[in-house]
Amino acid sequence: MNRCIVVGAGMAGLTAARALMAEGWAVTVLDKGWNPGGRMATRRVDGRVFDHGAQFFTARDEGFQSTVQEWAERGWVRPWREVDGVVRWCSVDGMNGLAGKLAAGLDVRQRVAVERVEWAGGSWRVVTREETFEGAVVLTAPLEQCLQLLEGSLDRLPGAMVETMRAVAYEPCFAAMVSLRGSSAVPAPGYVEIAEGPVAFVADNTAKGISMAAGADVTIHSRAEWARANWDMPLQDAGRALVEAAGAWLGAEVERVQVHRWKYAKAVRGATERALVAGRLAVAGDGLGGARVEGAFLSGLAAAERLLNNDAGEGCGASV
Ligand SMILES: Cc1cc2nc3c(=O)[nH]c(=O)nc-3n(C[C@H](O)[C@H](O)[C@H](O)COP(=O)(O)OP(=O)(O)OC[C@H]3O[C@@H](n4cnc5c(N)ncnc54)[C@H](O)[C@@H]3O)c2cc1C
Repeated sequence: MNRCIVVGAGMAGLTAARALMAEGWAVTVLDKGWNPGGRMATRRVDGRVFDHGAQFFTARDEGFQSTVQEWAERGWVRPWREVDGVVRWCSVDGMNGLAGKLAAGLDVRQRVAVERVEWAGGSWRVVTREETFEGAVVLTAPLEQCLQLLEGSLDRLPGAMVETMRAVAYEPCFAAMVSLRGSSAVPAPGYVEIAEGPVAFVADNTAKGISMAAGADVTIHSRAEWARANWDMPLQDAGRALVEAAGAWLGAEVERVQVHRWKYAKAVRGATERALVAGRLAVAGDGLGGARVEGAFLSGLAAAERLLNNDAGEGCGASV
């Protein structure tokens, strides 16, 4: 039986894993986080709920549109807002709720950090602290992290593939999760963009329907430039600055602020390929497919299809 180890249980990894499993492959997904989802992240603390990574997703590709339609029919996702005729979809119970549903039935192992991925003279080996796995591999961590995992075996990959991976950069972001004692001033259905200053937008998770708390739970995302300029700022200070900058849209007394720092928030696309494949090693993720949930889905699917078709790409392959 064909065997594959997928590194990462975000949208790209789960999509690749599901596509391979549907074709009868034995797939194990390893993820260092607590829950599936990756940057489709939802924090739940004391009954307060925040999407603090991706807020929504779009579906412009026809294939992805029909998948999203299936998810909608199952009651997993629903339209949240529409901008210029394009629907912004959200997961009905927080973005990582969708990931949890996609992970069901897969062998997904959370809190397992992969330490390295190496060529073992005939096959690829995925090494964690406790275990070593062998088989085909799909890597879906941000590309800078994939390069670190592959460090000792980069000479086994085509130079062009490594260069492509190195060319993709990511924008940072601070996400402040703010619990209010009353309703927010964010207009329905719970999203407002801010044209200038430290804050890119404010989203109301209560208006969005994922937080049921009496007071509103809002997420404030910083602009990438502000995050870059203030990267070393203590989280508390960043939270205070973002709350102050978003002030007009909060509209109620602040009860609690939590802050998350995203080093790799959104990929600045540098690659035209949806997935990179060398022999039985594939690399996927939003760094290749496009800097959003849809891009991660398309990239994960492309990686699986190329492994299924045994399409090793140019240069190196399993034979090196
Ligand atoms: C703040 C923010 C706002 C965003 N807003 C939007 C939005 O509104 N709409 C939109 O479409 N997109 C948005 N995005 C982008 C979107 O979230 C990503 O493009 C998409 O979720 C990426 O999916 P992925 O599977 O490629 O990567 P990820 O979701 O990052 O998944 C990679 C996984 O790999 C795991 N991993 C990494 N290294 C290891 C290791 N060594 N061992 C084991 N596991 C490992 C991680 O734990 C992670 O779960 C946003 C992202 C952020 C951070």
